[in-house]
Amino acid sequence: MSITPLMPVYPRCGVRPVEGDNCHLIDEDGTRYLDFASGIAVNLLGHSHPGLIGAIQNQAAKLMHVSNLYGSPQGESLAKRLVDLTFADTVFFTNSGAEAVECAIKTARAYHQHVGNAEKFELITFTNAFHGRTMATISASNQDKMHKGFQPLLAGFKYAEWDDLESAKALMGPHTAGFLVEPIQGEGGIRPASPEFLSGLRALADENDLMLVFDEVQCGMARTGKLYAYEHYGIKPDIMATAKGIGGGFPLGACLATEKAARGMVIGAHGSTYGGNPLAMAAGEAVLDAVANDEFLAEVTAKGERLRARIEQFIGNYPELFDSVRGKGLMLGIRMKVESRPFYAHLRDNHHLLTVAAGDQTLRILPPLVAGDTEFDEFIDKLSAGAADYKVPEAA
Ligand code: PLP
Repeated sequence: MSITPLMPVYPRCGVRPVEGDNCHLIDEDGTRYLDFASGIAVNLLGHSHPGLIGAIQNQAAKLMHVSNLYGSPQGESLAKRLVDLTFADTVFFTNSGAEAVECAIKTARAYHQHVGNAEKFELITFTNAFHGRTMATISASNQDKMHKGFQPLLAGFKYAEWDDLESAKALMGPHTAGFLVEPIQGEGGIRPASPEFLSGLRALADENDLMLVFDEVQCGMARTGKLYAYEHYGIKPDIMATAKGIGGGFPLGACLATEKAARGMVIGAHGSTYGGNPLAMAAGEAVLDAVANDEFLAEVTAKGERLRARIEQFIGNYPELFDSVRGKGLMLGIRMKVESRPFYAHLRDNHHLLTVAAGDQTLRILPPLVAGDTEFDEFIDKLSAGAADYKVPEAA
């Protein structure tokens, strides 16, 4: 038998972390890595935050899991906080981002069925989007590499050009239920949507009674200096998926919706064995305790500006390698003039700096939100050393 016990679906690299220390990961051979990947925008409080660890430990000792057949004081409390902090009136907790997007898709479809428009089941999504790896969420993305081997896809998605309102308009028809969009594309290459695009989608949704669904799985939860990225745009979605940072490393996601949008989500419409269990709720509360306040969010904004300015200054030294910096807060991307994946591997293997490669030749810089100037100094040192001894591979 040649298959590995872990199903071989990931191109795993040689880094094998066994311990975390704030903004660093320690490999099983003792090597320390500066972690500016944060488990792909998850470990927003770093790897050893006492508040998060304490909350999980305390809750684990008290009660880890009960079924959603019972009342949930823990779920009610976290849902109420999210409702108070956002556009939403109601919350469904999940264990991951893809499940949160699934729930968002179901909520949008159920709205139209509930109001008697069952023919409206199609969501318009956008090129290079990433919404997860379930059948519905790969169907929602136009990326062929994720479809291969899994056809037929789920019906009900049309792909418009990213950040192009006219392209979205052109796809609208009698089956359109709404729009599903990341306000800032993550996997697609840290690409913030333009304000005109998102407010244009909002207007189209309002004029035609469609659902505006935001996927804030990567850009949400304080990463951009606002609790949610939609706040930068002065508009609100009807439905939103959130995950990643919301549990700080504990698997947690949520689908948030307005009362109107959630009309079809009645008893029996949806469910999850683990979703919203007391342990996950304790992690979510600890994360909100740390990040959902003006001081923390202002710090993320200020730190994001400092880090961005330093990266912008640095990339000027290597015009043959780097093109530009984009993103918001501590969700930054360096667009490269060469493929980003080999450079990301070089930084990791030769300079012990962890970042994440993304689409559009972009290197994602996603530090824990608790990183500060000491970590930024270390980051710039490693990035400089990495650029100085980088040899662009022949084939790239
Ligand atoms: N949506 C976006 C924007 C994401 O970035 C991701 C994951 O990277 C997902 C959905 C899927 O989340 P998960 O991997 O937790 O299922």
